[in-house]
Amino acid sequence: MAADISPRPQARKPVLLSKIEALQDVVNTAVIIPKEDGVISVSQDRTVRVWLKRDSGQYWPSIYHTMPAPCSCMSFNPETRRLSVGMDNGVVSEFILSEDYNKMTPARSYQAHQGGVTVVLFVLEMEWVLSTGQDKSFTWHCSESGQQLGTYRTTAWVSGLQFDVETRHAFVGDHSGQVTILKLEQDSCSLVTTFKGHTGNVTALCWDPVQRVLFSGSSDHSIIMWDIGGRKGTAIEMQGHNEKVQGLCYAPHTRQLISCGSDGGIVVWNMDVTRQETPEWLDSDSCQRCEQPFFWNFKQMWDSKKIGLRQHHCRKCGQAVCGKCSSKRSTIPLMGFEFEVRVCDSCHESITDEERAPTATFHDSKHAVVHMHYEPTRSWLLTSGADRVIKLWDMTPVVS
Ligand SMILES: [Zn+2]
Ligand SMILES: [Zn+2]
Repeated sequence: MAADISPRPQARKPVLLSKIEALQDVVNTAVIIPKEDGVISVSQDRTVRVWLKRDSGQYWPSIYHTMPAPCSCMSFNPETRRLSVGMDNGVVSEFILSEDYNKMTPARSYQAHQGGVTVVLFVLEMEWVLSTGQDKSFTWHCSESGQQLGTYRTTAWVSGLQFDVETRHAFVGDHSGQVTILKLEQDSCSLVTTFKGHTGNVTALCWDPVQRVLFSGSSDHSIIMWDIGGRKGTAIEMQGHNEKVQGLCYAPHTRQLISCGSDGGIVVWNMDVTRQETPEWLDSDSCQRCEQPFFWNFKQMWDSKKIGLRQHHCRKCGQAVCGKCSSKRSTIPLMGFEFEVRVCDSCHESITDEERAPTATFHDSKHAVVHMHYEPTRSWLLTSGADRVIKLWDMTPVVS
């Protein structure tokens, strides 16, 4: 072991605060109510529930409302206490919650999609309700009149949706693995560009409007950070989950990205470090270190009477190398590899212990996360699991 690696500032370990367990079915979306010891949940069992913390320390429903269909998604605006619920029957229903969170009043319902609603997002500034559905459409409605303003056909089912208020760009992540960027007008939209980087479904999107960075999480286990504000087209891949990424949240005041996965992992990424893009993989007919031919290079194999080798790639320099010249593994956190990956021997020697120091912390939520929500004012994290349990975590930095 080399010299001690000094602990990263702001390293934090989530502290389990509460569990909400009285659930018949999986909660598809749940949010923490800011400034209130409360949680709103919508579930496959068709219920909308508001949970308030009681004197006993436990959360009990103050509102228990049954909807006409399973509830797949929701959006809650704390300022107006407006709750928009998307259902499997394609309907979006909106409610206003009372100040004490003991009552909810229906505001409006409309058929937003022909199939189940997959994501709903209320944008207060525009008075828009954005939604996506299994009918492969993205629509936006006026939250005041309930009128549909516009629609756009997506290439596949959408499971991630974010909106930038300032420039009116919508980010739409779908099951084909691509992220579509649309510029919305009052009643029309135009395609700006598409981002392709994932090999699996896009499962979550998170937009940081200050640094103008978009994070996308995927069933391919990876997260990609798309630097839009930097205007250099950098896309940095971050590998820290063993299964599909299910949720992403950015904590602006601590500059941390929090990701949750169906592996139960909660990963807290330090975004104060500058990460590099991974290199393009180079192609070669022979190992770029020992010059032994790869197995398809029959000419050189014949000429030099050598056995062909299998081609591998060093994740750090991108060179095509044989197995013998890349027998070692290393983490390369500054390239997003928090897990050990193949590197060539010369890169292995050149990576310093400092470079190997993790830029993320890893925690176990002990349930397969299906949804997460982060409340920045108290640094609370909510995870909803496949085990039908909601867990509340305190993410405040812990001094070690
Ligand atoms: Zn070699
Ligand atoms: Zn290398």
